[in-house]
Amino acid sequence: MEAKHQILIVGGGNAGISVAAKLLKKDRKLDIAIIEPSEKHYYQPAWTLVGGGVFDIKNTIRSEAKLIPNGAKWIKDAVSELLPSENKLTTKNGDAYEYDYLILAPGIQINWNGIEGLEENVGKNKVCSVYGFDKAPYTWEVVRNFEGGRALFTSAATPVKCGGAPQKIMYLASDYFRRQGLLGNTEVHFMNAGKVLFGIEKYRKSLQKVCDRYGVKQHHRHNLIKIDGQNRTATFRVTDGDGNTSEINETYDMLHVTPPQSAPDFVQSSGMTDAHGWIDVDQYSLQQVKFKNVFALGDATNTKNAKTGAAIRKQAPVLVENLLALMSQDEIQGAYSGYGSCPLVTARGKVILAEFDYSGKPTETFPFNQAKERRSMYFLKKKVLPWMYWNKILKGTA
Ligand SMILES: Cc1cc2nc3c(=O)[nH]c(=O)nc-3n(C[C@H](O)[C@H](O)[C@H](O)COP(=O)(O)OP(=O)(O)OC[C@H]3O[C@@H](n4cnc5c(N)ncnc54)[C@H](O)[C@@H]3O)c2cc1C
Repeated sequence: MEAKHQILIVGGGNAGISVAAKLLKKDRKLDIAIIEPSEKHYYQPAWTLVGGGVFDIKNTIRSEAKLIPNGAKWIKDAVSELLPSENKLTTKNGDAYEYDYLILAPGIQINWNGIEGLEENVGKNKVCSVYGFDKAPYTWEVVRNFEGGRALFTSAATPVKCGGAPQKIMYLASDYFRRQGLLGNTEVHFMNAGKVLFGIEKYRKSLQKVCDRYGVKQHHRHNLIKIDGQNRTATFRVTDGDGNTSEINETYDMLHVTPPQSAPDFVQSSGMTDAHGWIDVDQYSLQQVKFKNVFALGDATNTKNAKTGAAIRKQAPVLVENLLALMSQDEIQGAYSGYGSCPLVTARGKVILAEFDYSGKPTETFPFNQAKERRSMYFLKKKVLPWMYWNKILKGTA
C-alpha cells in the first residue's frame, strides 16, 4: 500500500504524541499521521521509583489508542527505512508513505547485547536494571531481598535517557538498605563510565554529600564490558588520566546495570545522522541539517541536552512553531535553550531537582535552592509529574 500525509510523525512516545497534540491545537485541519508499532505507551520516568519499591509498575502503562490525539491518524506499524530525498519512508508491513513534512521522534534504542553476558543475565542472577518495563520490577525484588555484601551500580559509556537514573536507583536502594539496618555490612559502589558524578557543579556538590551519607564509593572511568552471572563477577574497562586502559574484575551480590544506548538502527542508514549515529539537527531550531522539511526531537537527536521528558516539554513548542513557520514560508525563529531537568531521588521522600540548559547553568523553576534535598520535590516527582504527563503533556497543553 502507498499513502501520503502532509505531516508524518515517526514514534508515538512522549515526543511524538506531545508534538502531534500541539500541532492539532494550532490547526485542526492539519493532516497528521503517527507511525507507532506499540499498543502500549509507558511513563518511563517512574521506572526508577518502581525499582526502589515506591511506585506500582501498572501505573506506568496506558493504551496507545487512547493517547493518539483526535484528528491524528494512527498507523500501527514500524518504520523500516527512511528515504528523505524521496520524501518517503517504508514500514515493516511493507507499506510506503510519502510526506510533505516529517517529524522524527523514535526515542532511544537500548542495546542489551552491547555488554557481554548482559542479555542472558539481566532479570535474573541478581542482575537488574530500571531501563525497561519488564525489568524494573525485578530490580525491586533484588533490592528487597538483598542481605548485605557488595552492591554495584553502573552507568554507561554512551549517552542514555535520564542520565540521573543510574544514581537515583542507587540512592533509593541505599536508603532501603539503611532502613533495614544493612548498610553496616554493605559496600555500595558507583561504577561510572563517565568522569564525574554529575556534570553540573551545583548539584554535584549536593550529590557528593548524599554519597557520603550512604558510604558510596565512586569509581569513575569504569566501563562495564562483561558479566559472568554464574560467578557473580563483572568486568570493567578502566581508563586512567592518560587514556591508558586496563581491565578489572569485581564480584557482586547485586548488580544494577545501565545498558548502552543509541538512536534506533533504522535511522542509521537514512543519511540524517551524525558521526555517532544520532539524528543530526540544528540544536536550536530542531530542523534536520540536510533535509529542511524534516524535524526531530526527543531522545534520538544529537542535541546536547539531558535526554529527558522535561527537555521534550521545551522542545515540542519550538518544533511546532518552526514547522508551522516553514509551512507558511515564514522565517524560522524558535530556539530551544537546551533545557533539561532531572529530579534526583536521593531517598524515599527526598529529591534534588536539577534543572539546567546548554550553558550548563542551573535554570531553576522554584524560588528556593533546588540543590537541597526536599520532600516537596519528591511529591512533585511521584505525584505531580505523572499526572502532568498523562493529563497535560500528552494533551499538548503543557
Ligand atoms: C529509567 C528511566 C528514568 C527516567 N527518568 C526521567 C525523569 O525523571 N525525568 C524525565 O524528564 N525523563 C526521564 N526519563 C526519560 C524519558 O522517559 C525520555 O526522555 C522520553 O520518554 C523520551 O521520549 P521520546 O518520545 O524521545 O522516546 P519514547 O518516549 O521512548 O518514545 C519513542 C517511541 O518511538 C517508537 N518507535 C521506536 N522505533 C520505531 C519505529 N521503527 N517506527 C515507529 N516508531 C518507533 C517506540 O515504540 C516509542 O513509542 C527516564 C527514562 C527512563 C528509562
